[in-house]
Amino acid sequence: MTTLRIILGDQLSKSISSLEEANQEQDIIFICETWEQATHVKHHKKKIAFLFSAMRHFAKILEADGYKIEYVKLDDPKNTGTLLGEIQRTLNSNTIRRIVITHPSEYHILADIKKLEAIINIPIEIMHDNRFFSSIEDFAIWAKNRKQLRLEIFYREIRKKYSILMNGNKPEGGKWNFDIENRKSPSKNTIIPKPYIAKIDDLTYEVIELVSKNFSEHFGDLYPFYFAVTRNEALKILDHFIEHRLIHFGDYQDAMLENEPWMFHSHISFYLNCGLLLPIECVRAAENAYYQGKVPLNAVEGFIRQIIGWREYVRGIYWLKMPEYAQENFFEANRNLPNFYWTGDTKMNCLHQCISETKQNAYAHHIQRLMILGNFALLTGINPKEVNEWFFIVYADAFEWVELPNVSGMILFADGGYLASKPYAAGGSYINKMSNYCKNCTYKITKKNGPDACPFNYLYWDFLVRNREKLESNPRINMMYKTYDRMEVEKKQQIIQDSKAFLDG
Ligand code: FAD
Ligand code: SF4
Repeated sequence: MTTLRIILGDQLSKSISSLEEANQEQDIIFICETWEQATHVKHHKKKIAFLFSAMRHFAKILEADGYKIEYVKLDDPKNTGTLLGEIQRTLNSNTIRRIVITHPSEYHILADIKKLEAIINIPIEIMHDNRFFSSIEDFAIWAKNRKQLRLEIFYREIRKKYSILMNGNKPEGGKWNFDIENRKSPSKNTIIPKPYIAKIDDLTYEVIELVSKNFSEHFGDLYPFYFAVTRNEALKILDHFIEHRLIHFGDYQDAMLENEPWMFHSHISFYLNCGLLLPIECVRAAENAYYQGKVPLNAVEGFIRQIIGWREYVRGIYWLKMPEYAQENFFEANRNLPNFYWTGDTKMNCLHQCISETKQNAYAHHIQRLMILGNFALLTGINPKEVNEWFFIVYADAFEWVELPNVSGMILFADGGYLASKPYAAGGSYINKMSNYCKNCTYKITKKNGPDACPFNYLYWDFLVRNREKLESNPRINMMYKTYDRMEVEKKQQIIQDSKAFLDG
């Protein structure tokens, strides 16, 4: 009996559940590039090149292992352009009795697969995605009957369950969370290791050519191209991080420096999200480095928390709340995304830096996404749909399951506080503390009002005033209203005027 085993573009792991028990003699492994996938939104050119190249390499590796592969290239003249169209074409030319797929990471693909099952009359087995620490079902059970979900509680449970950084029943070092130590300001003497640059082979060149020809109007630079596209290369990037960067990951987790897009971050989200790396191996590699005395606990705990905490938590919320989650707009924000998000052409140096680096690398580290790009969108009331689309397009690690909760939940508070306990709104002073962006900015960080004042300084208060009714009862924000109420009337008027002038401009 022939089984068709579907591998989606973000399921490039040999140990994925859909390949378990595969019969190499009989089964067909189906992998396909579609126009739908590349243009669903107009993804960054580097992102398309990275994913298609990783898919082609993965197919070759499976073929070399003896699997029968049905690989559909984007420019195959018979390519119907959609996943369902291509599955049906494969079914028409083979006698398939059963289809196996690992649970798609995105809601709309799962809906498509279910639709297909109703049409084709062949059973489709949807297997649990074995790469995550918490299954969709387990998360739903955990969340049930909780009035408020909190990352910290979820994170501790995963640590205990998998015995990660544990000393018996106690957390290693006596504390669960070392975040308070992870806020060092960057210094100009900080030496940042160069990132690992993966080599480009002929297969990747072929894909880059394809992207250059077909997606020239998409956002972003194709060159220089330095992403790993095989598991072996991705493992080298992980090793490079553990060896050279992890030691300062904690200290400089929130730090930003001009022309230093990579800082001490790991740059592994691309590989985790498409399956070239497995979360458990990244966690264990960091844990081992700690037990070998190579890296401090604050760095390792901080890194591990991102992977077993935040990454799992946002996925759980995504599946719990979809499809309604994509429609959330708690603040009824309706401003359009400014055009400079596409060009970087703004006098605000922090935004200029982050957007230019995003265009070049299809990457920005977490604090750039959160404190600069996200914070600005929140304070100025940009429509969540437009913000989500931008974040989905521009980052090579963006898949809806992880992008949407981070944008709608973490930065825009569009879910009214389901994911986070308060909106992540900040004025310019924290940006100045954690970066050197303000030194070369047209605006003056020390000025609170007037045409040359840092816009974050007055937009922050304007945001609070505009949304007072919705936020005042929040105990974590409430004291800011007390500060505002103590301001002189003239100062309050200036805030409103400056914000209006800026936003109208
Ligand atoms: P590191 O800082 O080295 O962190 C290690 C790993 O932890 C990351 O590779 C990632 O897998 C995980 N991680 C860290 N923070 C988060 C988080 N908040 N949610 C989920 N995983 C996390 N991450 C994505 O993978 N795809 C996205 O589309 C995405 N969109 C984001 C949008 C916004 C507005 C914000 C604030 C964050 C977003 N993140 C997203 C989370 C985070 O910014 C990226 O995972 C991280 O910057 C990737 O770089 P890194 O691998 O160097 O991460
Ligand atoms: Fe950004 Fe304000 Fe600093 Fe300029 S002064 S870089 S706008 S925070």
